[in-house]
Amino acid sequence: MTSPPSQSNGNTGSHLKIPKIKFTKLFINGEFVDSLSGKAFEAIDPRNEEVITRVAQGEKGDVDLAVKAARQAFDNGPWPRFSGTKRRRVLLKLADLIEENGEELAALDTLNAGKLFSEGKVTDIPSTAGYFRYYAGAADKIHGTTLKSSSELQAYTLCEPIGVVGLIILWNYPAQIFGFKVAAALAAGCTVIVKPAEQTPLSALFYAHLAKLAGVPDGVVNVITGFGSTVGAAISSHMDIDKVSFTGSTEVGREIMQAAATSNLKPVSLELGGKSPFIVFDDVDVDKVSDLGLAGVTYNKGEVCVAGSRVFVQEGIYDKFVEKVVAKAKAKVVGDPFDPNVQQGPQASKKQYEKILSYIEHGKKEGATLLTGGKPLDRKGYFIQPTIFTDVTDDMLIAKEEIFGPVMPILKFKTVEEVIKRANDTKYGLVAGIMTNDWNIANTVSRSIKAGSIWINCYMNIEADCPFGGYKMSGFDTDLGMEGLYKYLQLKSVATPVFNSPWL
Ligand code: ADP
Repeated sequence: MTSPPSQSNGNTGSHLKIPKIKFTKLFINGEFVDSLSGKAFEAIDPRNEEVITRVAQGEKGDVDLAVKAARQAFDNGPWPRFSGTKRRRVLLKLADLIEENGEELAALDTLNAGKLFSEGKVTDIPSTAGYFRYYAGAADKIHGTTLKSSSELQAYTLCEPIGVVGLIILWNYPAQIFGFKVAAALAAGCTVIVKPAEQTPLSALFYAHLAKLAGVPDGVVNVITGFGSTVGAAISSHMDIDKVSFTGSTEVGREIMQAAATSNLKPVSLELGGKSPFIVFDDVDVDKVSDLGLAGVTYNKGEVCVAGSRVFVQEGIYDKFVEKVVAKAKAKVVGDPFDPNVQQGPQASKKQYEKILSYIEHGKKEGATLLTGGKPLDRKGYFIQPTIFTDVTDDMLIAKEEIFGPVMPILKFKTVEEVIKRANDTKYGLVAGIMTNDWNIANTVSRSIKAGSIWINCYMNIEADCPFGGYKMSGFDTDLGMEGLYKYLQLKSVATPVFNSPWL
């Protein structure tokens, strides 16, 4: 496909196309089915606030059916019993199918989440295929250890798939977060119930279809679209789900833990919010680093949990950095995310758009200086100008809370010790960026910051083999890396006496 398929798109340029929506029903036990209630909800196009389509609205009963299918597939089906090599083959096939359908998948997330189509094609979808390939490669390398134990006993460990897993995901990266979690859980031999965010339900259904085409047996992948308070809550409190892995807000993460605690004590993994420091020292190439800093808050219109949304700049280059970054923010092209010349699309939903604008108002009221942006675009859709604040102090709301939008608060600092202390003065600890050519500083700061990923002279480098998770209220457990697979495994130790051994 050279451009997203079919239908012309409402109120934007005629050269822009939107994809035909193929899948809008729940995916249970290998079939697309209506919700039990027959209810459906609207998927909205954030470019123009129009209804794209209506999607089946699952509820508790639908979750029960999906769990039954996943349970059956886990307890009696072939997937957990396949050799790792066989699972690997299926996952590699799925990765190929994702790539083959890359343009259509990218277009779905452009249409429904406002993501740049060009970026989806070259980044999101290839990365998602890459996660499936990475975990496919791990599927036949899952093994335990042999232990000497005491003189009368020897023991070994088994790594068994944990069981039926609920995967609850956010709307900002519908493809990649699906890939992180589903690829690892399937490689481990688990069966899954995926709940995409209600704002972006479309692409997960397409992935489910591809999983079936790739040879994933029925019941292994189920997708229930619907709302958090019904579908999400039913998953996290379900007595027959063995584990929940979640990416989303800290508030919902807390609710999921509570639901798990008051149901069957299922283990949960949480990847939550962040308010990550992006620290710029005096010795850097300001031009390059201002590009990186701006990307750190405007990439994916700032709807990124790893956004570097506390930009600490050392006093010696502060003015120069501010000047560069403001000029670059002003030059950014905001508009239709299908247009290849556009650099920033609309926010994913009305709720998020309003939330970002309210943070901008807070920033102004609290006395920060608005240097550029701060307003929505004068057109339909959820478009917000890239926004930069200076004279920001650590106690301001825009320096403390996750904005999840294209807003850069810039803070000035003098010394290494000072910036370490201030960077750590947050309830979050997801990532940190350190920009310096001085390796003593880089080493000192990277070891001192309490965050799960540190990026030195680079930013947002999420890679399949790098564990990704947070400190503090950014959550616990990691996605990605081999650790992202281990969380879907249950460790069992087996001991047996060793009699009459000449070595005892
Ligand atoms: P946001 O507030 O930015 O929309 P959330 O953290 O609320 O992000 O949503 C992330 C995911 O969690 C979505 O799939 C959403 O439907 C789901 N969710 C929301 N509330 C709950 C809940 N109480 N229990 C389980 N999942 C939920």
